[in-house]
Amino acid sequence: MKITPLIFKSPYFKSAPDGAPGATPVYATIEKPDRAQISTIKRALDELEEVVFLPNDLIYMKTLGANPPFKNGKEALEWIKESKAKILYADFSNPSVHACLNYSQNDGITILINSNYKDNCTHPDVLAISEAIFHECGHGKDFDSENSIQEELNCLSLNVLAHRYYQKKYKGIFDNSNSFLYSQGVSLYAKLFFDFYKTALKNRVADKYGYLQTGDDKHPATNLANDIKRIYESATYV
Ligand SMILES: [Zn+2]
Repeated sequence: MKITPLIFKSPYFKSAPDGAPGATPVYATIEKPDRAQISTIKRALDELEEVVFLPNDLIYMKTLGANPPFKNGKEALEWIKESKAKILYADFSNPSVHACLNYSQNDGITILINSNYKDNCTHPDVLAISEAIFHECGHGKDFDSENSIQEELNCLSLNVLAHRYYQKKYKGIFDNSNSFLYSQGVSLYAKLFFDFYKTALKNRVADKYGYLQTGDDKHPATNLANDIKRIYESATYV
């Protein structure tokens, strides 16, 4: 068992927890995965490999100001193989963190999934985990430890577009899935991007990621990211 400190005070540290507000320090205890966990990750990756973006969804997403780092799920799978990224479960000190990514020059890329989801092996759970993996692959793709509001938006577009694809492929699959993984995660963001007024999306991202820099060299800020930064600054009187 290994204890890995994942979050530091620097707002630019890559492993900022996805799903928890601000830059709260989070520690992760990584455990050797058991057979059920390995099987769940494999099922999630098999689903991810099939993901394609619905053409109108992709146009809408880009117009909004979020640019997915991968063209489809298959491309993310290829990236995982090439980069030798590891996918593991971890106990997070903050249970509201869904997943996060750890990058170090020595260990490379590790995607950590909240172990609260380790026994979740229903089909919608597997899909939700695949979305979390997709999101973290988006962060890992640039091999740096820098993060920004724009990078988050781009990575969020991955899980949202995958979620929309699954909703179409498996009609009604998420209808009875009301756990935290959905209500504050995959289902919420699909609604925020596609169904609700954009103010709700901006407020949510400002709350979770507003402390980050607006954009960075590899993720130039769009108007959406600029709006989010303004909301964050006006709310916190920075
Ligand atoms: Zn993220």
